[in-house]
Amino acid sequence: MAARVLVSDDLSPEAVAVLKQAGLEVDVKVGLKPDALEAIIGDYDALAVRSATKVTAKLLEKASRLRVIGRAGVGVDNVDLDAATRRGVVVMNTPGGSSVTVAELALAMILALSRHVPAATASVKAGKWEKKRFQGHELAGKTLGVVGIGNIGSVLVDRALAMKMRVVAYDPFISAEAAAKLGVERVELDALWAQADVVSLHVPLTEQTRNLVDAKVLARMKKGALLVNCARGGIVDERALADALASGHLGGAALDVFEQEPPPADHPLLGLDGFVATPHIGASTEEAQSAVAVAVAEQLAAYLNH
Ligand code: NAD
Repeated sequence: MAARVLVSDDLSPEAVAVLKQAGLEVDVKVGLKPDALEAIIGDYDALAVRSATKVTAKLLEKASRLRVIGRAGVGVDNVDLDAATRRGVVVMNTPGGSSVTVAELALAMILALSRHVPAATASVKAGKWEKKRFQGHELAGKTLGVVGIGNIGSVLVDRALAMKMRVVAYDPFISAEAAAKLGVERVELDALWAQADVVSLHVPLTEQTRNLVDAKVLARMKKGALLVNCARGGIVDERALADALASGHLGGAALDVFEQEPPPADHPLLGLDGFVATPHIGASTEEAQSAVAVAVAEQLAAYLNH
């Protein structure tokens, strides 16, 4: 009997075709409420998700046949990994499929901040012509500090070097040789905060990285420095960031990710000049979405047919 796959978030038609061509029986049921999903999950050997489906311990209790979960994307925050492990369910993600796309957003944030593009746009649209107010900074010759030089961080390094920035990086799991190959100088965190004109975060959210950028770290950063977080909410203490921006110590900050998504309307960052935000769209390009959907389908097919 063919293994049965439930696709519960929007994968591309190409990805569904990959599953079918591998001889799997595929049901696409997008947008099910938790109750409805719990009612049918027991019929499936595999579950393919993006980020909308929450794979909770409660859902997994009902998943008597489930052998594998495929997440089209990087972060597996929407899957209860402990519960899956307890039940012997393999969880796969698609590292790398969206790295260029996320790195390009981080670069867009850096450029937007250094030249005040969003605020200048709002000003022109309001009928003003504030040339002096929007004088910016050149990136060439400045120091970029990258925290985490994995898949995404290393693409950003490449793009920043092409823009003639100097790049320093902190990543305890990457060897000095590997860092040198990328063209970056590996430094300790303290040195990174002190040297960087721009800091970009590309680490997972873990016990070690939660609130990594807090009031103390922000105070150590250079006056006028820029901070970009396209990794995960919770790595930056947002209240401390708002204080550092409001006081003029930081020159700008951009977040694609928040502790609470969407952030509450009275969030202290939302009213600040020099703050740029996007609604967790780091991986949202046509190219990346299609690449990760096909990648997860290929991985699920390989696993179920092995
Ligand atoms: P990756 O695993 O390839 O790289 C992460 C790097 O961080 C690794 O090299 C690891 O050694 C390093 N690291 C781990 N703990 C660290 C620590 N305490 N200090 C310094 N370095 C540490 O992951 P990736 O694909 O490059 O993704 C990076 C981040 O981007 C993740 O948080 C991921 O969830 C996030 N992400 C966000 C979006 C978005 O939509 N904004 C999309 C994809 C990924």
